[in-house]
Amino acid sequence: MTTEADDAHAVITQAARILVLRRDLGRLRTQVEALAEALADALDDPGPLVATAPHWAALDDGEYAAELEALASWVRDVLRPNYGGYVDTVLRDCWAKHFAAVWELGTLRAEWLRIYNAKRPPLADALVWHDRWLPGVLGRLRPVMKSCTAAADGCAMDQPAHTKAAPWTTR
Ligand SMILES: [Zn+2]
Repeated sequence: MTTEADDAHAVITQAARILVLRRDLGRLRTQVEALAEALADALDDPGPLVATAPHWAALDDGEYAAELEALASWVRDVLRPNYGGYVDTVLRDCWAKHFAAVWELGTLRAEWLRIYNAKRPPLADALVWHDRWLPGVLGRLRPVMKSCTAAADGCAMDQPAHTKAAPWTTR
């Protein structure tokens, strides 16, 4: 037989349980929201998914022209304005006529885009790009264009801008 006191105690106990459950539910909601935000960030971040190196020798004329235009835009709008201090001492305006420069800069751009298109650019990759990849490209291209001049006809390279054959077979 229950008394009113027992009933009151049962109600209080139930109320306490409800408060605890409500508190736990609030914590779970916070955790779910944090997980959902992390998942959305991961899905929105296409960085690693777009990391493809251009394979210039596999492109047809139209693809090559489009890729070269994109590369030229990057060189003009990103590379020279931001790194002109040391890029301009190496890179001549005729760079697109040098297959070595097209390959080197195309690969450099692909990595730059992979890093900086990410929602949160990875610091370690950015440091490697600046400390290793950019100086490496400039060091290898320096002898390639050392005898070229700014004049339109001052390029030591005399070859078509693109051929379907792999560049190494056209020499
Ligand atoms: Zn040249």
